[in-house]
Amino acid sequence: MYTILVHGGAGNIPEDKAQAHLEGAKEAVKAGSEILKSDGSAMDAVEAAIKVMEDNPTFNAGTGSVLTFEGEVEMDAAIAYGPNLDFGAVAGVKNIRHPISLARLVMEKTDHVLLAGQGANDFAKLMGFEYHDPITPQRKAQWEKYRQEFMNGNYKDWPKLRELFKEHPEFLHGTVGAVAIDSHGETAAATSTGGVFLKLLGRVGDTPIPGAGTYATIEGASSSTGLGEGMMRILFTKTALDFLRDGLDAQHAAESAINYLDNFVGTDAGIIIVDRNGNVGIHHNTPNMTWAYLKDGMNEISCGI
Ligand code: ASP
Repeated sequence: MYTILVHGGAGNIPEDKAQAHLEGAKEAVKAGSEILKSDGSAMDAVEAAIKVMEDNPTFNAGTGSVLTFEGEVEMDAAIAYGPNLDFGAVAGVKNIRHPISLARLVMEKTDHVLLAGQGANDFAKLMGFEYHDPITPQRKAQWEKYRQEFMNGNYKDWPKLRELFKEHPEFLHGTVGAVAIDSHGETAAATSTGGVFLKLLGRVGDTPIPGAGTYATIEGASSSTGLGEGMMRILFTKTALDFLRDGLDAQHAAESAINYLDNFVGTDAGIIIVDRNGNVGIHHNTPNMTWAYLKDGMNEISCGI
């Protein structure tokens, strides 16, 4: 028995981009399921799936990450191992190709849970990661356009940024996440992101915070996407897995977590969950969220947007 489920970010995905999102999500599921089929681990499967999406410029993770207000890329990533609540994460890391692999090394090679900024980059160097520029010409052009619009308002005023997100929900889409359970019954979750457009330097979102954007327990695994400032405040993925532990099935746990978020902070979000029996939960309060999954016994990858 195994299941792997991925998301490619919540938001408003323009029609002309939908196909690329779906294909990218399916490629990620393929990479992860190859590992699970041959009795590999959920950890290896979610890492492999995320690496595929970090390399795909369609998504806001790794290459193709969105730019900060200053025009740089600062990436967050996290990986969670359900059997013992182990967790590894990086925040604000620059110029590497696969932040998810660095997050895993934080978990496996250090006594820490989260490395940020220059420390994360120094650790990447130590681990042999090569320099990689993740800024694509498309993201640079978007950044120039959005920054100009933003400068026409009051750029220090965060509520203005919220208004801008409302007008351009495409700001948010593209973070990637993967959750899996393997044939040994072990769960894992992984999430990787460039964050949100025009974020201030040093801003850290929900993705690398345990229980906010990424979490795994013996009951299941969860990864989220959306505006991190809201999800962090309610520990979104932990809340979802608490619903699972308390007896809800994966789909109802996902729906209840979004309801909870809507009631308390009301920000845009999407979530994916896999439970200990390999069932999936997928829900979002945004117009779109790309998802794809494969369960043991299915002939074809199921996907949607
Ligand atoms: N959750 C991410 C963040 O706030 C962004 C996203 O999911 O699109 O950093």
